[in-house]
Amino acid sequence: MTCDMTSSSTTPSWTLDEVMGLFSLPFGNLMDRARQVHLKHFDPNAIQVSTLLNIKTGACPENCSYCPQSAHFDTGLENKPLMDEEAVFQAAIKAKSIGSTRFCMGAAWRGPRDEDLEKVAHMVTRIKALGMETCVTLGLLKQHQAARLKEAGLDYYNHNIDTSESFYEEIISTRTFSDRVRTLEYVEEAGINTCCGGIIGMGEMPANRAQMLHFLASKKLPPKSVPINMLIRVPGTPLADQPPVDPFDFIRTVAVARILLPTSHVRLSAGRSEMSDEMQAWCFYAGANSIHYGEKLLVTSNAAPEEDRALMSRLGIYPEKRDESCFVEEAS
Ligand code: SF4
Repeated sequence: MTCDMTSSSTTPSWTLDEVMGLFSLPFGNLMDRARQVHLKHFDPNAIQVSTLLNIKTGACPENCSYCPQSAHFDTGLENKPLMDEEAVFQAAIKAKSIGSTRFCMGAAWRGPRDEDLEKVAHMVTRIKALGMETCVTLGLLKQHQAARLKEAGLDYYNHNIDTSESFYEEIISTRTFSDRVRTLEYVEEAGINTCCGGIIGMGEMPANRAQMLHFLASKKLPPKSVPINMLIRVPGTPLADQPPVDPFDFIRTVAVARILLPTSHVRLSAGRSEMSDEMQAWCFYAGANSIHYGEKLLVTSNAAPEEDRALMSRLGIYPEKRDESCFVEEAS
């Protein structure tokens, strides 16, 4: 897979009413629409597989209501400083050995200091040399920091908008939606692909979901990778008592993302460990074609690797870049 910032988007323009209309379609009709789009642009049985490693844990000054790494909430999480470069590199080698084509690194910062960014840039360059794609999520960036990451060889920068602008301050008050968008612009200007999506189940209305996806699809450079997360209700966070998401509402969101962002990878991300196999299968059918593979997703649990292998086998789906090293037993 290439990381091509220059390829023109085939995204048609949508009005918000039209997006709301997609959400209102009968479930089967929406699945049909999403499937047609998916078949046109992708091998429907290929799944892009990424591994995500938290390289700096906890003590984050931001107050994202869903996040156990925020210093504002007592979740019992053990804070850890930025990992040593060699340890991160070894984790990337292991990820490659089990079939991951992209290595994603997350750090719980409001934004990186220049000296920390430099350390991450070195990690990116070394991991790129393994032949893997690289992605980092480091919080808000300054313009020169985005340029430095590009110089280091970074392929993707993850920076989720989480929800719609109108619902944003219900979830986070230490930064604004506009702050988030500015970093996305710096990343795009630097020539790095964006990975940007949101979280379902935070108490948002269907209109908020539609607004979020409409925003992403309306961007001049829509994100190449779109994580659709299901809220993990972590005890100690303000959203711990949210009611669970209706699985059909979640699957609908995946389908609408597929229709609005036809050439982007739609990623089933956080919350997969709480999804049934049947729900995941519907998400794949609706157009999800990327997963994080591994025991952990930042600091929360992920679907177990052996369960992923079994599910992929039962569904007849396979990693996007298929080679003999994919999905062999996990290296010790
Ligand atoms: S989501 Fe990121 S920015 Fe928000 S509190 Fe967690 S680590 Fe910090």
